[in-house]
Formats: sequence, structure tokens, C-alpha cells
Amino acid sequence: SKKHKIAVIGSGNWGTTIAKVIAENTQEHEDLFEQEVQMWVYEEEYQLPKDSKHYDGGSELCTKPQKLTQLINGLHENVKYLPGIPLPKNIVANPDIADAAKDATILVFNLPHQFIGRICDMLRDKVIPYARGISCIKGVAVSEDGCELFSDSIGRKLGIYCGALSGANIANEVALEKWCETTVAYDPPALDSQHGSPDRSSAAADDNALSRTKSRALPAEYPPLNHINIKKLFHRPYFHVRLVRDVAGVSLGGALKNVVAIAAGFVDGLGWGDNAKAAVMRVGILEEVKFGTRFFSTCQTETFTQESCGVADMITSCSGGRNFRCAKMSVKEGKPIGEIEERELNGQKLQGTSTAYEVNEFLKAQGMEKDFPLFTAVYNILAGNAKPQDIPKLIEVTSEGD
Ligand code: NAD
Ligand code: 13P
Repeated sequence: SKKHKIAVIGSGNWGTTIAKVIAENTQEHEDLFEQEVQMWVYEEEYQLPKDSKHYDGGSELCTKPQKLTQLINGLHENVKYLPGIPLPKNIVANPDIADAAKDATILVFNLPHQFIGRICDMLRDKVIPYARGISCIKGVAVSEDGCELFSDSIGRKLGIYCGALSGANIANEVALEKWCETTVAYDPPALDSQHGSPDRSSAAADDNALSRTKSRALPAEYPPLNHINIKKLFHRPYFHVRLVRDVAGVSLGGALKNVVAIAAGFVDGLGWGDNAKAAVMRVGILEEVKFGTRFFSTCQTETFTQESCGVADMITSCSGGRNFRCAKMSVKEGKPIGEIEERELNGQKLQGTSTAYEVNEFLKAQGMEKDFPLFTAVYNILAGNAKPQDIPKLIEVTSEGD
């Protein structure tokens, strides 16, 4: 029988970490997965820094910029986006997206959300019709038509089924194999588990239905892609997976907490302490639940309040995430957050700033800005219409209104 071929689309801080997790598992489950994991890299030239352990001062590698793919494949380390972490040798960095995705039965999408639209255009008609996707992207796709989950927009554009992975997962900690949990939402077409466990969702129409109905049945010679086998792709002793079916809740938890983490950074930057940060998190979770259940019919409140992708991601992101740290520095230094992002992140991207604008565009179109005062406050502060000091006043309505 055939084995699943995996391609990871994206190779940033989290993309590379997830490729590492998967490459360890493809070695461990040889019966299910081909060992080699293709990792698509947005190609760039990179000069190895002098403090890299690979820097020897004399070789060509060190004297001039090299292609990032060559560095990754030669050194088995993503020296730019995940420095200091040895990668399994079965990861192959590939600058050609169509070649990386060729024949893949499982595509794992993991890149900053602003780039995914173009990436789907590049992959259109290049993926096999019975491929399955998992989106690790934390963001929402807002267009004139409304607010779409990336799992759905990827599924719709590529004609495949796509689930989601999200959790309290600061990439550098996962890469160092420090224990954490994550949530995988996967609710695939019935035919995927016909020769496996009776792993089937309800027939109810839902937000994830479009990508499900278009996708083709997995040929019988492949191991079934049920929850048991999907778990084997991601679960590690240091990365504990819980599987659920609420793709909308998992995707939205990851996207919306980035907006809240910016607010947490703002109040911390003012020196207001942990109580203020906790207040922002509390309101943030309420707004996540309200947003999810108001706009996505299948979204479950419990996904936000009980799973890693909800409350746990809120806490970790508001403690040490990049959105939090950069927002805090921007208040302390009185500089725009974009300037801090450029200076501090070495090419890594914040998701919370653009998500705050996108969510606001959607809420404005719905006439519902007032119903989400924290999301609206973050937007207004970023847009220069309000100050971080205004946050208590701006969100006060929540305690009376609901
Ligand atoms: P990142 O912040 O490291 O971003 C850098 C990546 O963007 C690099 O791979 C770079 O090549 C790529 N890139 C730059 N310009 C590009 C372009 N024009 N087209 C395509 N790619 C381009 O990315 P990340 O940390 O891997 O984040 C990916 C997703 O995972 C995000 O939605 C993020 O919110 C989420 N996430 C991140 C973490 C984390 O701790 N880093 C944890 C969980 C989830
Ligand atoms: P940041 O993008 O703010 O670093 O958040 C990382 C994350 O999603 C942790 O779960």
C-alpha cells in the first residue's frame, strides 16, 4: 500500500518548528508516511552571522550571502528563522513550491497569513485532488464577501479538505522540545475513514462543508486519514495533540488572540502590571467567543474556554509572544509597532496588527464595532485614533452591556 507524502508550505519560525515535529514523526511511523518531508522556502539570500556556530570565518559559506535553502539543506538548521535548532536530515528545503507540493497527500500550511492568498494562486491545479490540508496559520481572510477562515479559503481555492492546528505554542519553546499542548481540528470527508476507524463527523452543514464536499475521496491504497493517523503526524512526547472537530473555533482562537496580545502589550508597556493584563485577557476571551459564535455557525464556546487553541494560547501569547513583546516596546519607546517589528524580529512577521485592521474592516461592514470594544480599541490605537491609556474606558461597556 502507498504512504502519505508530506509537504510543509512555509519555513519561518513556526513553519520550521512544525516541519521538525513532522519529520520526527515520519521517521517513527514508516508504515504511514514517507520519511522525506518537503519544506517550501520563500527563497532569499542570507549572510551567516558571526555568532552562528557554523561560522568559521574562512569558507565561502561565511564570507558571502548564500541561498537560504542551501544553508538549510547543508547545515540542517534554519539559520535565519530558527537558529540554534538542529533539524532532522529528512527535511528537504525546496524553493520551488509546485515541486515541493508535487504528489503530497498532506499539505501543512504554515506561513504568515498575509502571504497565503498568493501562495494558493501558485498552488492552484498543482496539488492532487485527494490531498488533505492542515492550516497552522493564525489569522483571518477578510474580503468584500466577509470573514473567512484560512482552512476554508485554502480548501476552496485548492479544492481540497483543510483542517487546522493551533495552540499555546511559542515556536522557540516547541523547537527546544519543552512540553506543551496543541489543538488539531479535523473533520474530514466520510470516505477518508472508510477503511479505518469509524471516524466521521455529523452530516450537518457547516462552515467547513464547502471544502469537504469539493474534496475527492482518498484512494483506498493509502492509510486512512482519520483522527488516529492525523494525531500520529503531529503528536510528540513534548507536543501533546488533542483532536477536535471545531475547525472554526480552532482557527479563530489563533487569529483573534493576536489582537488581544497587542492590547496586553500596550497595558504592560504603560507599566500597569499583571492585573491589567489579566483584565484584557478576560475581555479578549469573551470577544473571541462572541465573534466565533455570532459569525460561524459551528463554532463551540468550549473550544475557546477549554482547549489549548483558546484560553491557553491567550495566556502564553499575552506573556511572551511577539505581538505582546513588540506592542509593549512600542509603548515604552513611543515608536510605531511596525518599526519595532522591523528592528526586533529579523524578518519574522507580526500577525496581530494586520488582523486588528482586518477584523475591524469586517466589524465595520457589519455595523458591529461597538459590540467588540477591545478589538475596536486595538484597531483605533494602531490607527492613531486612541491611546493605550484609553483602554479601560473603551472596554468598560462590556461589563454593563452583556
Ligand atoms: P515568521 O513570523 O517567522 O515569518 C517569516 C516567514 O515569512 C519566513 O519563512 C519568510 O520566508 C516568509 N516570507 C517573507 N516574505 C514572504 C513572501 N513575500 N511570501 C511568502 N513568504 C514570505 O512565520 P512563522 O512564525 O512561521 O508563522 C507562521 C504562522 O504561524 C503565523 O500565522 C503565526 O501567527 C503562526 N504561529 C507562529 C508561532 C511562533 O511562535 N512563531 C507559533 C504558533 C503559530
Ligand atoms: P506571536 O506571533 O505573538 O509570537 O504568538 C505566537 C503564538 O501564536 C503562540 O501560540
